[in-house]
Amino acid sequence: MEQSVRSTGVATHCPYCALQCGMTIVGDDAGYTVLPRDFPTNKGGLCRKGWTATELLTAPDRLTTPLMRDRKGGTLRPATWDEALARVASGIRDIQERHGRDAVAVFGGGGLTNEKAYMLGKFARVGLGTANIDYNGRFCMASAAAAGLRAFGLDRGLPFPLADIPGADAILIAGGNPAETMPPIMQYFEAQRARGGQLIVADPRVTATARAATLHLQLTPGTDAALANGLLHVAIQRGLIDRAFIEARTAGFEPVRRTVASYWPDRVERITGVPAKQIVAAAAILGEAATAMVLSARGPEQQSRGVDNVHAFINLVLALGKAGKPHCGYGCLTGQGNGQGGREHGQKADQLPGYRKIDNPAHRAAVASVWGVDAAELPGPGLSACELLAALGDTVRGLLVFASNIAVSAPAAQAQIGRLDALDLLVVTDLFLSETAARADVVLPVAQWAEEEGTTTNLEGRVLLRRRLADPPDGVWTDIQILKALADRLDRGAYFSASVPEVFSEFRRATAGGIADYAGISYRRIAAEQGVFWPCPDEAHSGTPRLFLDRFAHEDGRARFFAVEYRGPAEQPSPDYPFILTTGRLLVHYQSGTQTRRVPQLRDAEPEPFVEIHPHTARMLGLRANDRVALKTRRGEAELTLRLSRDIRPDTFFVPFHWGGKGSANLLTNTALDPVSRIPEFKVCAVRLEKVEAHGGSDRAGASLVATETN
Ligand code: SF4
Repeated sequence: MEQSVRSTGVATHCPYCALQCGMTIVGDDAGYTVLPRDFPTNKGGLCRKGWTATELLTAPDRLTTPLMRDRKGGTLRPATWDEALARVASGIRDIQERHGRDAVAVFGGGGLTNEKAYMLGKFARVGLGTANIDYNGRFCMASAAAAGLRAFGLDRGLPFPLADIPGADAILIAGGNPAETMPPIMQYFEAQRARGGQLIVADPRVTATARAATLHLQLTPGTDAALANGLLHVAIQRGLIDRAFIEARTAGFEPVRRTVASYWPDRVERITGVPAKQIVAAAAILGEAATAMVLSARGPEQQSRGVDNVHAFINLVLALGKAGKPHCGYGCLTGQGNGQGGREHGQKADQLPGYRKIDNPAHRAAVASVWGVDAAELPGPGLSACELLAALGDTVRGLLVFASNIAVSAPAAQAQIGRLDALDLLVVTDLFLSETAARADVVLPVAQWAEEEGTTTNLEGRVLLRRRLADPPDGVWTDIQILKALADRLDRGAYFSASVPEVFSEFRRATAGGIADYAGISYRRIAAEQGVFWPCPDEAHSGTPRLFLDRFAHEDGRARFFAVEYRGPAEQPSPDYPFILTTGRLLVHYQSGTQTRRVPQLRDAEPEPFVEIHPHTARMLGLRANDRVALKTRRGEAELTLRLSRDIRPDTFFVPFHWGGKGSANLLTNTALDPVSRIPEFKVCAVRLEKVEAHGGSDRAGASLVATETN
């Protein structure tokens, strides 16, 4: 039973990743202490980010007053709320009168609570009447979401609780490093290994997770679909597939069987760099196990063929008959704190609450009736995140940003920053003056995780309650207050409430009957039951920890195969850009670093951006540890400190993406989009390296090392 709020502490959840670890916070604004809580997700564990989370509550550079720029190029100055909101409302009206309703867009975030994500989607459609809303989850889990929806008829990160992991005899983690991104989850994999289970990790780097594995497949970035097809090829050749399961519970296997017939291990070794013997061994481990899971993360997902990659792994799971059964299945290790709930309730360009489709007449009618508007008034699908950002300063003239730091997190960041500056109106709500907020015309200071109540949905689909610990500082509003106040100023206030319980109550009704049905979930039940798994259509329903045990969510109850050919990344190494760049996260930082770079213990542990390369490659290029180097791609250039590691492939460089400025990884990344999920290709592009400054010296050699490498 979850601890209730006690006089000595508040039982809540971590503000960061999708594990949403339970914690109890004691103290007051003179000083808080985080205590781990024995909650089903983290079972008493926390990582360094969780332990230090309350530092954010007393951060010295917290914004406590709105800021405004009187003219483009002017400086930000403090403003009253009245002044700032009036400026935002008049700016919106002016742009919409001159350029149409869709010329004002909204950009949300996967860190927003369900209540806020829901209200933001409604505000865009009902308050602004714009089609253009999307969010940073498009940069994160979109490929897994799209593939899961197409294959199973329903997208929920894990279709089973974490507690099922130890019972799986074999697990493949594809492109994920949970030992660093969500360390307490490793308890489940350690328990799985302890009872004799096999853990396979596919990753271009020897990560902490890969070190915990039975077998590490160190593939070339961008070759995931070839690897998955190769594993299925071997499973078919060895008679390890489950024909009875395929016949009874799936559709579309035959084209997949024909496609993978040409992915024999030697060929897959040439594409992926993974030895054929390891491919055969991995297929045997997964195929011969009585129970098995495949868990994907951003490695295969953040690619211009991200949906294909995920489908290839789902094909493997389905063909082996390892889905829709206890301790089996495909799952996505969701990243952001409310990455799951944030992708269900209307922040997406094509979506309405409850995972409904905005172009489906019945779905529009259902939501419009809850909102009290005519369905015909609701806009249609809008631009997806990258397309929306590409339209800034062109067809989109005004942008409202909530819980997102686009200037750091969007690909090809330099061009993106230019487009932010080209807007007629940029409004940013944030806790701090992030890199994006610093470019805004109006900055609105908002409450943070422990200063307001709200629900999140973790990677298991478990709906949780974050409780309020303290009042926000004087002068700080909640996002929900801001949206209500703006709606009032736009003469749409009658459709909105500033009360979180009222918003949650309306949100439940708006999801009723949808795929992600929260109608039966209440704050009382969440507290009493240690979270409630959706779908939960009424208060008598016990929630759904395990999906698909009897049927998949498509109308005919069958899961779908999708035949996938390996096509490779959008950009291959070339003489000008001879190496592969991949990006990712570090243990002590979270996303764009707006929060974790302000926590002294975390900042001091990893104070600056770097590039990790193999010592052999460094020797070949005449480089030493701590040299300052410039990485260059077709999008831009970043200046970084060199770190040497034998844990990376010699053909690959790794750069963490938690910083802005000259060391921002996203100055380099590719905007090539997946045709289905519209996710950009963060995980692989072609790059070259030039020395800027030798370690300990001040010479700016600046000589290109491309010739050295290619000669
Ligand atoms: Fe848990 Fe994630 Fe928070 Fe770490 S960052 S304490 S793993 S929720």
